[in-house]
Amino acid sequence: EKKEFRQAEVNIGMVGHVDHGKTTLTKALTGIWTDTHSEELRRGITIKIGFADAEIRKCPHCGRYSSSPVCPYCGHETEFERRVSFIDAPGHEALMTTMLAGASLMDGAVLVIAANEGIMPQTREHLMALQIVGNRNIVIALNKIELVDREKVIQRYHEIREFVKGTVAENAPIIPISALHGANVDVLLAAIEEFIPTPERDPNKPPKMLVLRSFDVNKPGTKPEKLVGGVIGGSIIQGKLRVGDEIEIRPGVPYEDHGRIRYEPITTEITSLQAGGRFVEEAYPGGLVGVGTKLDPYLTKGDLMAGNVVGKPGQLPPVWEDLRLEVRLLERVVGTEEELKVEPIKRREVLLLNVGTARTMGLVTGLGKDEIELKLQIPICAEVGDRVAISRQVGSRWRLIGYGFIRE
Ligand code: GDP
Ligand code: MG
Repeated sequence: EKKEFRQAEVNIGMVGHVDHGKTTLTKALTGIWTDTHSEELRRGITIKIGFADAEIRKCPHCGRYSSSPVCPYCGHETEFERRVSFIDAPGHEALMTTMLAGASLMDGAVLVIAANEGIMPQTREHLMALQIVGNRNIVIALNKIELVDREKVIQRYHEIREFVKGTVAENAPIIPISALHGANVDVLLAAIEEFIPTPERDPNKPPKMLVLRSFDVNKPGTKPEKLVGGVIGGSIIQGKLRVGDEIEIRPGVPYEDHGRIRYEPITTEITSLQAGGRFVEEAYPGGLVGVGTKLDPYLTKGDLMAGNVVGKPGQLPPVWEDLRLEVRLLERVVGTEEELKVEPIKRREVLLLNVGTARTMGLVTGLGKDEIELKLQIPICAEVGDRVAISRQVGSRWRLIGYGFIRE
């Protein structure tokens, strides 16, 4: 087999309640520890979305799956199946909007539920997020099984089957595992291969990348002639990007106009591309892609470009400052212990909207039957028909209360 580098071809989310073992499982499957940012280490939680790429390989001798070139179970050489990118979403309840940004990039997800605790508020909230983005390729990992007895595992199994009834995870397999001890992760990988297929992609569609992060990669004190342009990180959801391509970024860059903040699309050139941490000439959907540009790094520092959409000039979706949504409200607020009833949306109330990797506040200016009109604080770039997650402030936190579709 040729040892050529391949880019990941599918994004698989790790979702579930905090401390149920998402990061440990990602490590068990990829060897990569995704809790790397210093603040995350300090707080012991995953704040920013972590990507970890790994090969899924199958042993032709014993048929078991692993990420290793040599089968850990029987010692034979394994065969390459595909390269996948795990997206480790934060489980802490305050970080739901980060989770929603990640969910828009997931082609499938592993819902991690710890056997000792069972279904918890963020288990419900994350399943609802998958429901809202319409993600049906789901595998459930019942983790930490070595902490409970056999009867408990069977009880959890039935609780989970009941819990997913009528949801996007209705037909998801439930795989008992111990991420910490690496037990049954080969069976989990087999389920991932079966239930989370790589979507059909058309490389000739106009490219679209959703921006999650952006950076100024220059060290402080770099001489002006040595400065490198701004870098944008995200995931391509359609088409492909090439070094040398002209790109447009929407909604773009903020500027002040008579005391009001407005946004202006910006065009630049791709000077370098990184996929899965390596420099490439072309990048496709799957995994985290870093795009080097000729932009002033001042515009990209500290994630300033997060939430933007990148594509070919003139081929991106429209930018909306006012939005009309067809709305579906949930019956109950998810993520709270008490499961409060969702009250109808009121005129003049401010809602938090997540569209792709973008988040913005919207002031409700109009109310119709199953429809609302909003004035957005930050405009968004999205297609008619795109899904929008709607959250409302309940107590001190933003809670998911429904979703909507963008109307003409
Ligand atoms: P996350 O918040 O979902 O990312 O959870 P982590 O992966 O950070 O795990 C939280 C805690 O659970 C850590 O102390 C892990 O060592 C522990 N943990 C994860 N998986 C297992 C498991 O299979 N068995 C046991 N006993 N502990 C586990
Ligand atoms: Mg974690």
